[in-house]
Amino acid sequence: MSLFALTAHELQEKLKTREITAVELLEDVYRRVDSAEPAVQAYISLHQEKALAQAEAADDRLAAGSAAVGTGIPTAIKDNISVAGVRNTCGSQILADYVPPYNATVAEKLLAAGVSVIGKTNMDEFAMGSSTENSGFHVTRNPWDLSKVPGGSSGGSAAAVAAGEAVWALGSDTGGSIRQPAALCGIVGLKPTYGLVSRYGLVAFASSLDQIGPLTKDVTDCALLLQIIAGHDHLDSSSVVRDVPDYLAFLRNSVQGLRVGVPKEYFGEGLNSEVRSAVEKAIAQYEDLGAEVVEVSLPHTEYALSTYYLIAPAEASSNLARYDGVRYGYRDREAKDTVSMFMQTRGQGFGAEVKRRIMLGTYALSAGYYDAYYKKAQSVRTLIRQDFDQAFAQCDVIISPTTPTTAFAIGEKAAEPMEMYLSDIYTVTVNLAGLPGISVPCGLDSKGMPIGLQLIGRHFAEGQLLQAAYAYEQAAGSHLLRAPLEVKANG
Ligand code: GLN
Repeated sequence: MSLFALTAHELQEKLKTREITAVELLEDVYRRVDSAEPAVQAYISLHQEKALAQAEAADDRLAAGSAAVGTGIPTAIKDNISVAGVRNTCGSQILADYVPPYNATVAEKLLAAGVSVIGKTNMDEFAMGSSTENSGFHVTRNPWDLSKVPGGSSGGSAAAVAAGEAVWALGSDTGGSIRQPAALCGIVGLKPTYGLVSRYGLVAFASSLDQIGPLTKDVTDCALLLQIIAGHDHLDSSSVVRDVPDYLAFLRNSVQGLRVGVPKEYFGEGLNSEVRSAVEKAIAQYEDLGAEVVEVSLPHTEYALSTYYLIAPAEASSNLARYDGVRYGYRDREAKDTVSMFMQTRGQGFGAEVKRRIMLGTYALSAGYYDAYYKKAQSVRTLIRQDFDQAFAQCDVIISPTTPTTAFAIGEKAAEPMEMYLSDIYTVTVNLAGLPGISVPCGLDSKGMPIGLQLIGRHFAEGQLLQAAYAYEQAAGSHLLRAPLEVKANG
């Protein structure tokens, strides 16, 4: 088996015993990038020279016996997470040439651990979308079927990991953007509890919802990558002061007696029958493993999408006000005066979906409509959070599909924003409530496309969530499936 197909924890063993070097590993992954990238197009930029220097430094550390978790692992980073000296486009033409002078805290932590950063991955512009088709650069294809979307907005990160073009990756999740592409690409994706992972250096979309998290080939890698990036950061005022537990230690615990809650509202209309039966099989698997399955109710679920699509655009309209041609990125240099410079810069620099969100959000926040829309949405957000509090009185983790369908065809939903928004129906509630959620592979549909199982935990209960995900993964074995990507011969 080629190295690019292995997990970080498998590779870490080989690196430690010096069976392979970090440079050999990086070269193997880059050969895979060379062969797969023309078909998949997961990246916006590649940084081979820098990555090589990082791999050489990793080899020095490995030889000196001072390696950490992550040392020498080829890593992809979503293009809305700042890495100093490297373009950070956020999938937008307005930031096409923006090079941040500093590292995001998560990037700082990864670099300190000694990873090699392969490149920055494609995404929906400003993370607004569920298919990566809203990228201002190009469309990324699903490695399981190149005619299908990889999901979004972290579609580049998910496709890179699924195609073996990175061993693991970081994404960001505001309403499902880690879990949904993970599900559609057959990998693991975790959105941490709001406040667990620093947002410093993440380009803000909706600041009260955004979290950075791992996209990996299995749950063990997810625990390892979360361990590296989690923890308090004084540079992010919403980051929580709290000890970070040893996540790997949780994986050994059994799920005997764990109460798994099934929310009836997540199995209604719109759920594809093959996805439903795969999730039902997973629920039965939990029972076989000794877990106790209980029905729970999240009664305000029907308002979740409306709530999300008011709050997220409202915050976005405010966050994106900073792209005015003065401080960052693109400027229309033909404009005759300042006001037309602002207007033309934004008119030319932003894509259609971003403009739609800015208009929606500005409307929801405007005098006269604020109470009817934004304030109402905030009240419903509290009700959604209370639904979860009540459900967690009866269960320890909640189980659901990650998405209502498997990956859809490129172009299928691009013209109909509402259709696209509906693919977030099971994920947005988790962001609104600030909870952790993970998607794990749960088999394939009859067309051979991956299905994702979502598990939701209590605030800061990532350990328990990973434990529940790991028990299922080991029993079901779905994480061992790899995308049948046929590309020109390696090397
Ligand atoms: N698809 C959702 C949206 O377009 C969520 C995106 C995200 O999580 N960044 O807003």
